[in-house]
Amino acid sequence: MKKITILIPAYNEELNLPRMIEALDRLATGRVRAAEGRESADMTDYEWEFLIVNDGSRDNTLKVARELRENDPRVNIVNLSRNFGKENAMLAGFDFATGDAVIVMDADLQHPVETVPEMVYWWEQGYEDVYGLRRTRGKESWMRKNLSLAFYNLLQGTTRIEILQNVGDFRLLDRRAVDALRALRETQRYTKGLYCWVGYNKKEVLFDQGDREEGVSSFNFKSLLNLAIEGITCFTTAPLRISTVIGFLISLIALIYIIVIVVKTLVWGDPVAGFPTLLCVILFLGGMQLVAIGIIGEYIGRIFSETKGRPVYWAESYNEKKL
Ligand code: UDP
Ligand code: MG
Repeated sequence: MKKITILIPAYNEELNLPRMIEALDRLATGRVRAAEGRESADMTDYEWEFLIVNDGSRDNTLKVARELRENDPRVNIVNLSRNFGKENAMLAGFDFATGDAVIVMDADLQHPVETVPEMVYWWEQGYEDVYGLRRTRGKESWMRKNLSLAFYNLLQGTTRIEILQNVGDFRLLDRRAVDALRALRETQRYTKGLYCWVGYNKKEVLFDQGDREEGVSSFNFKSLLNLAIEGITCFTTAPLRISTVIGFLISLIALIYIIVIVVKTLVWGDPVAGFPTLLCVILFLGGMQLVAIGIIGEYIGRIFSETKGRPVYWAESYNEKKL
């Protein structure tokens, strides 16, 4: 019997977890119907694991998860020693997952269990990476929606790897794709890009993103901006090249300007207004240099944290066992 792991990264999800496990139980016992006209596999043909990764929650998530485990042997718990962020928590999940396929789902029930039978169906058809494509994004601010679209366009425009739009972490991965992801141990993880990096046969499945059931989203504007910078600096060196090109263009313009001034002075004997000209050039170049240094700094920062070679996460315990 093939085994499917549902991987649930959880940060402060004490209210959502019981509902999530209940929904998954309905799924595993074949009580969830796929949407009308959709392909679907029989969920009772599989063995299940519900792997909760507690990402250093500050509430009772761990306690709730342990209670769930007492009543349901399918629940396994990885407890991280502190909050490492969702990207890192997912890697922990991939490391501990025992299934032949792993499905990543948010704990807040934004990813509908109804989509899973169709994902499994396509997995059985030989696709290693079946990803959920958001048809609707649920309640979300106008700002967040549009900024994230703009970001995807920017990223796609500057990297050779295909980054899929409107695709989140809700996806089914075959064991082979999971092992490929586990081989990528970079600490600055932009998992959405990594899925594309590992390749394999991909298949999309549409779903409607629900609204968060309880609690608040842990991703605010600042953390999304960080994720965006992560995405760009992890997957493209285009900004470095752009700053080189801009620097080159500015030098060229300056050179032309110098020639113009020299010719004007020699031929027409024009006096040059020195101070304003100088000030403009100095301020402009100074600004450009700071930008370029800032960009380089971002990459050096990445190099710094990668060279330390620290593990991506630290697991404190697996089920009852201290690690
Ligand atoms: N999450 C996590 N670690 C974090 C932040 C979030 O494991 O540091 C989990 C969270 O519990 C949820 C999923 O990642 O299962 C998505 O988080 P959230 O719903 O806050 O994000 P959004 O849906 O707003 O993108
Ligand atoms: Mg959410």
